[in-house]
Amino acid sequence: MNKAKLLAEILKPGFREHELMRDHTTIQVGGVADFYYEANSIDDIVNAVKAAKKICLPYFILGGGSNVIFSDYGFPGLVVKNNAKNISFMNEKSQVIVDGGVPMSKLILEATSNNLSGLEFLYGIPGTVGGAVYGNAGAHGQSIGDFVKNATILIPGEENEEPQIIQVDNKWFEFSYRSSKLKKIPGLKKPVVLTLKIQLAQNRQEEIMRRLNSVKKTRWDTQPVGMSAGCIFKNPLPETLVNVSGRGSKNMPEFPKERTAGYMLDHAGAKKLKNGNVRVSSKHANFIVNSGNAKAQEVRQLAEQMRDVVQKKYNVNLNEEVEYVGQW
Ligand SMILES: Cc1cc2nc3c(=O)[nH]c(=O)nc-3n(C[C@H](O)[C@H](O)[C@H](O)COP(=O)(O)OP(=O)(O)OC[C@H]3O[C@@H](n4cnc5c(N)ncnc54)[C@H](O)[C@@H]3O)c2cc1C
Repeated sequence: MNKAKLLAEILKPGFREHELMRDHTTIQVGGVADFYYEANSIDDIVNAVKAAKKICLPYFILGGGSNVIFSDYGFPGLVVKNNAKNISFMNEKSQVIVDGGVPMSKLILEATSNNLSGLEFLYGIPGTVGGAVYGNAGAHGQSIGDFVKNATILIPGEENEEPQIIQVDNKWFEFSYRSSKLKKIPGLKKPVVLTLKIQLAQNRQEEIMRRLNSVKKTRWDTQPVGMSAGCIFKNPLPETLVNVSGRGSKNMPEFPKERTAGYMLDHAGAKKLKNGNVRVSSKHANFIVNSGNAKAQEVRQLAEQMRDVVQKKYNVNLNEEVEYVGQW
């Protein structure tokens, strides 16, 4: 039986062939994935991973698609869109157990309704809770890793092994600035975050709302609207820079303003850069905006130009925060 037939048989509703990845990412670039599956539950995700492994097919777990740039050549395998959306609050412990596919904004707003506070700094960041944990998403000197108590994860295992579901604690993730252990484990061995237990704190709803409004305003004032993947580059870590002492935690170092990627890009003239249908945002020099019908290759080439101007002016090599996916 061919791969498509086999997958269609195992996965049934939600399975499609030849899916355009530009329709599933916030920057809206990228070609066709051979196979695509909308997983609506943890069981669906586990089945999809098992099915892909069985036929030695590469797979990719997609959250909100807000930190990835799929190649114009698409993805030669199965993209599993995580739509698992259970949320369960344990108000007496100020904790929540949440599926990895829950949108971050939904979690924050439902926590607010339960008078539970903590993740407001992430308000306005698109994407899912699983995607946020993968890259230890953060803002305003905080990051999600500080709030994760434990998680249920799927370990795909070696080629001839059955995937395993295990529980891990916060330490397992080895959270650091915009990174976690998940990011460091290669390709087909990458674990999948199924559910997370997150520790929040009691607070008055009006106070949480006040914080949400303030975070929203800052985002509105400093970031472009439109098709983007957020910041293209990470801030260079303080230890990689000369004469800069980093404060804050290892998880979320505090970056002096003039040593953030955005500042350096701005002062190196990146806001003037464009390439075909993509340009650097005039509001934030670390954002590439798709003006419409852009190719992934145009994004990547523009990112190279941005890296070059900072390298020339500051002798600093910027590293991507976004992830390039597929064949380039
Ligand atoms: C306008 C805009 C503003 C942004 N602002 C910020 C910001 O302030 N701070 C910040 O940190 N980021 C920011 N981002 C980037 C992005 O939104 C975050 O990184 C977000 O948390 C990514 O989540 P996602 O679900 O979209 O992940 P995706 O882009 O879908 O995936 C990213 C990676 O996570 C992996 N992944 C996704 N789900 C799981 C899972 N369940 N288990 C294992 N791996 C998984 C994917 O395989 C992929 O490797 C911004 C992006 C945009 C477009």
